[in-house]
Amino acid sequence: MISTQELIRLVRGPVAIAEPLAPYTGIRIGGTADFLVKPRDRSDLASAFGFFKALGFPFFILGRGRSLLVNDKGFRGAVIATHFLDRISIDGEIVEADAGVSVPMLLARSQQASLGGMEQLESVSGTVGGALRRNAGIVGRRILDHAEWIDILRNGRVRRLRKKEWTSSCPPLAEDDVILGAAFRMKRLSPKEKKVAGRAFDAAGIERSSVTLQPEASTGSVFRIPLEASGLQGSSAGDLIDACGLRGKYIGGASISLSNANSIVNDGGATSGDVLDLARFARQEVSSRFGVTLELDLTLVGYNRNGNDDPFKP
Ligand SMILES: Cc1cc2nc3c(=O)[nH]c(=O)nc-3n(C[C@H](O)[C@H](O)[C@H](O)COP(=O)(O)OP(=O)(O)OC[C@H]3O[C@@H](n4cnc5c(N)ncnc54)[C@H](O)[C@@H]3O)c2cc1C
Repeated sequence: MISTQELIRLVRGPVAIAEPLAPYTGIRIGGTADFLVKPRDRSDLASAFGFFKALGFPFFILGRGRSLLVNDKGFRGAVIATHFLDRISIDGEIVEADAGVSVPMLLARSQQASLGGMEQLESVSGTVGGALRRNAGIVGRRILDHAEWIDILRNGRVRRLRKKEWTSSCPPLAEDDVILGAAFRMKRLSPKEKKVAGRAFDAAGIERSSVTLQPEASTGSVFRIPLEASGLQGSSAGDLIDACGLRGKYIGGASISLSNANSIVNDGGATSGDVLDLARFARQEVSSRFGVTLELDLTLVGYNRNGNDDPFKP
């Protein structure tokens, strides 16, 4: 049993009760969480983590919610949001960022200091914590490739993982680890390189701001190709869905994005059920046509993955 008073006393950041989660997700879908806590800094996050952990109360860490699908029925548990973990510091060619810093912000601040080398990650719209958790990036250039160290909370203790402890294909993070922040090695840009990187960044920035100004509520990657099928003519999950002619296909208020077949858009009023029905349909089509069973890449929140309501249980 949670004592709300105790929680509010313990955590310095804001604590919301019965908070709707839709505004905290990329696709703008989802019911309420029992609690949503926004710790002020790393130690505040550790306090919130310890509080819920000690009580055995379900919780998860929220970045920008770009890879989440939250059940319309909500999440019976607590959400610890990293929004206020937003510190960035630069020392030579090392840029250190808290877990809640967005990847675009990390790139922009580095570039202001004439540092670059991570531009391939410009489409990753989530936070440093969310991106590291999922080792986001494009094929061959993943965020872990750039990290020098990662600060985590493991079993209630702060630990610093060093580069030698991982490879991109063998990430160092355990299921329950909470990422507090990380440091990235950049390279110094010559004035000419800075100009080129600036142009690339501006183009991505414009694209991003048009998404922000005219928000297309959408998911990140819905599926990934299973490892054993990853050599399939070099195709991505999006290529396979595209080859089935599913761009623009809709169910209820959800449709397969016209710009990226591996993303689902909320056309307004979509339910989490619409998104899952559409994802299930696409998966079935790909399976019938290519014999590949796509794996869900979205993190489902508010679904009991060990119970009967896991929509993708084999
Ligand atoms: C338009 C668009 C384009 C995208 N392009 C790409 C791309 O090119 N490449 C790519 O790889 N991805 C891409 N994505 C997916 C997405 O940006 C990344 O997966 C992203 O990094 C997720 O970060 P987030 O902060 O939104 O995490 P969330 O969605 O909030 O969380 C994702 C998971 O990470 C966990 N998590 C979050 N923060 C922490 C933390 N501090 N410690 C521990 N666990 C944590 C959450 O609990 C959850 O399980 C794209 C998404 C969108 C919407």
